[in-house]
Amino acid sequence: MNDSPDRLQERLYHDWLLPDEAREVRAQVRRFVDDEVLPVAGELNTVVEHRNAFPWQLFKRMAELDLFRIPFDSASWGRGLRYPLSCATVTMEELSYASDGLATIYDDHCVLPGIALLHGTQPVRTAYLKPLIDGSKVACMAITEPDAGSDLRVDTVLTRATSSDGFFKLNGHKRFITNAPVGDFATTLCGIEGQLSMLVVDLHAEGVTVGAPDIKTGNKVQLTADVWFEDVAVPPESLLGEPGEGLRIALQALAWGRVLVGGSGVGMAQAAFDESVSYMQKRAAFGRKLADMQHWQFRLAERATQICLARELCYKAALRHDEGEEFPEPETAMAKYYGTEVAGDMARDAVQVFGGLGFITRLGADGSTCRVEQIYRDCKVAEIYEGTNEIQKRAVARRIFGRGFLH
Ligand SMILES: Cc1cc2nc3c(=O)[nH]c(=O)nc-3n(C[C@H](O)[C@H](O)[C@H](O)COP(=O)(O)OP(=O)(O)OC[C@H]3O[C@@H](n4cnc5c(N)ncnc54)[C@H](O)[C@@H]3O)c2cc1C
Repeated sequence: MNDSPDRLQERLYHDWLLPDEAREVRAQVRRFVDDEVLPVAGELNTVVEHRNAFPWQLFKRMAELDLFRIPFDSASWGRGLRYPLSCATVTMEELSYASDGLATIYDDHCVLPGIALLHGTQPVRTAYLKPLIDGSKVACMAITEPDAGSDLRVDTVLTRATSSDGFFKLNGHKRFITNAPVGDFATTLCGIEGQLSMLVVDLHAEGVTVGAPDIKTGNKVQLTADVWFEDVAVPPESLLGEPGEGLRIALQALAWGRVLVGGSGVGMAQAAFDESVSYMQKRAAFGRKLADMQHWQFRLAERATQICLARELCYKAALRHDEGEEFPEPETAMAKYYGTEVAGDMARDAVQVFGGLGFITRLGADGSTCRVEQIYRDCKVAEIYEGTNEIQKRAVARRIFGRGFLH
């Protein structure tokens, strides 16, 4: 069950969209995934969440391979790529092919907080973005609260900062914050004087408490936790952008994140597809291979088409962004919801193809793990985080009907 199947992407998808630069990044990330991630993917995807479960070695390797530099220009210690979001999208696709948990560590470390930090002053960038990129500090993006997820308004976001003795005094409670159990700082959405704003907050500061890692259905190696702020003194220069720009900064980062989560859906769908095709060619029932059965041939033909379409949407959204469109709608929303929905549909089929083995986390007889069982667990959350799929459809509906019809 643990051998990697042939990759069928190249046979089924002719890439007429991506620039050479993104293809080169894909090749680099694929080498890393094949050599260093796939051999330990079973462990990453089944580990029980614990502070010590964070994959430090792979995190450091991603830094050494300059993967954290992909989104940024050379003045911000980045690679200075012409097509940074396209390159980050194929990075997510490749990482998710082996481990969506690892891919989300990447996204929630270097992309979401990293893009927000571009609104910081030069000293703030030097203090936070530089170590984020070289991997010496772990970053988080703290938006969600126990009572505010999709609906982010100054009335609903209860984390608030007030001015006090030349500092902001921060109080509040964030939930599901990826990387927080090992995090050094968090770009944090909060209310300041009645406006949503973004502060970068040192998670080692007095008054910050990070809870125990959540035990989740999937994405096991992605560690999330609650974070409490109690009278935390935050220096005024830690404000990113202007007061009142917090939601815009969050949405700007999420414009990246949504394309990347769509890309992660494509990566998971492709992995489940490849696993299914390989298994169908080996497994026999009623005297013939599953691959000989028209039911499964047609189902896989449908899924191959959907994966192709999802991939095109992600690349198109990324390319529009790379060409200067800050919020490339409706493609960003379409890419996120469709890419993750296809992952869910393909994963469900893949479990069915594998029969009982598709339901096995670890086989008692030999300790082996089943990749499609992992994808089935991992893919669900991609329909939820970084803006649920209903919120994405709302964005598409806004294009159809106009803002006046949405409340
Ligand atoms: C593993 C994991 C990692 C995460 N990482 C982070 C992180 O690093 N940082 C962070 O800030 N957050 C993070 N989150 C939180 C995540 O972004 C939120 O869970 C998500 O935005 C949804 O918010 P919610 O859970 O409060 O659901 P709610 O907003 O309460 O939504 C509940 C349901 O109602 C639906 N709904 C809401 N409004 C509408 C509407 N207008 N029309 C139709 N349906 C609607 C939603 O689609 C959903 O199905 C993470 C969550 C998980 C599970």
